[in-house]
Amino acid sequence: MSIAAERLHSVNSKPVNSDGRFVLYWMVAARRPRFNFALQHAVERAQQLKKPLVVLEPLRLRYRWASDRFHRFLIEGMRANAAAFEGRAVTYYPFVESDVESKPGDDSLLAAFAETACEVISDDAPYFFYPAMVRAVAKRLPVRLSLVDSNTVIPMRLAERTFTVAHSYRRHMHRNVIQWLDQMPQADPLEGVSLPKLRQLPPSVTEHWERADLKRLLSPGGLHDLPIDHSVAVVETLEGGAASAQRRWTGFLEQGLGRYDQDRNQPDCDGSSQMSPFLHFGHISAHQLVRDVLASESWRPEKLGDAIGKNQGFWGTSLAVEGFLDQVLTWRELGFNMAVRHPDRFDNLRSLPDWAKKSIQETARDRRPYLYGLSELEEAGTHDPVWNAAQRQLRQTGRMHNYLRMLWGKLIYQWTESAEQSFEFMEHLNNKYALDGRDPNSYSGILWVLGRYDRAWGPKRPVFGSLRYMTSDSARRKLKLERYLRRFEG
Ligand SMILES: Cc1cc2nc3c(=O)[nH]c(=O)nc-3n(C[C@H](O)[C@H](O)[C@H](O)COP(=O)(O)OP(=O)(O)OC[C@H]3O[C@@H](n4cnc5c(N)ncnc54)[C@H](O)[C@@H]3O)c2cc1C
Repeated sequence: MSIAAERLHSVNSKPVNSDGRFVLYWMVAARRPRFNFALQHAVERAQQLKKPLVVLEPLRLRYRWASDRFHRFLIEGMRANAAAFEGRAVTYYPFVESDVESKPGDDSLLAAFAETACEVISDDAPYFFYPAMVRAVAKRLPVRLSLVDSNTVIPMRLAERTFTVAHSYRRHMHRNVIQWLDQMPQADPLEGVSLPKLRQLPPSVTEHWERADLKRLLSPGGLHDLPIDHSVAVVETLEGGAASAQRRWTGFLEQGLGRYDQDRNQPDCDGSSQMSPFLHFGHISAHQLVRDVLASESWRPEKLGDAIGKNQGFWGTSLAVEGFLDQVLTWRELGFNMAVRHPDRFDNLRSLPDWAKKSIQETARDRRPYLYGLSELEEAGTHDPVWNAAQRQLRQTGRMHNYLRMLWGKLIYQWTESAEQSFEFMEHLNNKYALDGRDPNSYSGILWVLGRYDRAWGPKRPVFGSLRYMTSDSARRKLKLERYLRRFEG
């Protein structure tokens, strides 16, 4: 089945080489074998051209915050992909960069593959280093490079406007989602597919780049020689990869979803899906999550309510399902809307609304009740046990409970010299430790703390001005926190 035109675009004006030896899928963001539009499109192109299909999944060294934590999660993902592609109509080539000083990097590897490819298909990832990486390689490739959007249920380039608040995006989603629910990616794009076999990878590749030895890299000490940050430890309790994502997801569907509306905001229950690291690394797709939660209540389109932008009453499902869909389809997709439309500002303070910029300016000289530097924050060394527990959770487990994440950010804003400094610290801590960091959602969340997607609140308060105000005392009153505090007590 062909993918929708709204999900596909070419980034160079090079031709397709129909004499090439294979179609190449350069898998950089949607790192999964299922529910993946880019893989589906690559399979279709290979069938049309009657050529073998090669999937190249690289892992580079040169990205900010590269550490054992992220490398391990990604390499576990590669191991799961290697298993999933075994015996299928595809040649899978995982590559882990080891030493950029003395060996050519992964973009040279891509160029070497492309020399004999018919065309290259990749993921359309409008965040982190991906856009710059794509721009750099597009010119070097001798053949067409096309990008495919597998990020969001409603194609991220569909909307011709930028949404500055959730309820206006929600209205857009309500108006369009049904059409796109009918155009979901195939669960298994390789099912029943037969393609010519590639007898041999190009010698220009195999002579210079070794296929990753995933077993060795995942053995104790396997990452030791890589020049990445070894101080950010692997999260032993969370295995990366599509198979692990699927196991967790099934567990959530069976045991967590029914209580999502009640347990999500309670740190002691921690009743959210924990899908964000898998979504971030592309190990699971938002499409599948939406399909499965709707199926869990045997949902039918006749149940739909009015498309008026309310976060309850549209789907005609339980509150739990409605709440979950709102996070995935409104809050998550809103961040992609900003990332794709404003590459220059989605990840910085320039994306704040005018009222927030004004409020920040008005309170810039207000005396802060406490001032902390980055290392005191990083070490969870503040006076506030709730904040410290949240920071310890982030460092130890690579995640932070959603409600406490909001409080965590608000207090960093209150305890630093300026909005600029608070942003810098939040970005660094979030992206260094969180497995779901470095994502459009990271910037939706961090910049929400400073007013993005929010409205002005009154009365005006010192430091916060019109920004929404949160305190640990009110969190203690509202939330079940005892077990959480004991667990992350330090
Ligand atoms: C300061 C701050 C920083 C944040 N940084 C990140 C980040 O780096 N990466 C990240 O994915 N999310 C971030 N968030 C948003 C939110 O906290 C997480 O998405 C959520 O806690 C992930 O847990 P979950 O997968 O169990 O969520 P669930 O509640 O099970 O929700 C399912 C999915 O919906 C999406 N979602 C849920 N809540 C939000 C939200 N508030 N905004 C956008 N999407 C949402 C996520 O993709 C999530 O995986 C941040 C929020 C704040 C306030």
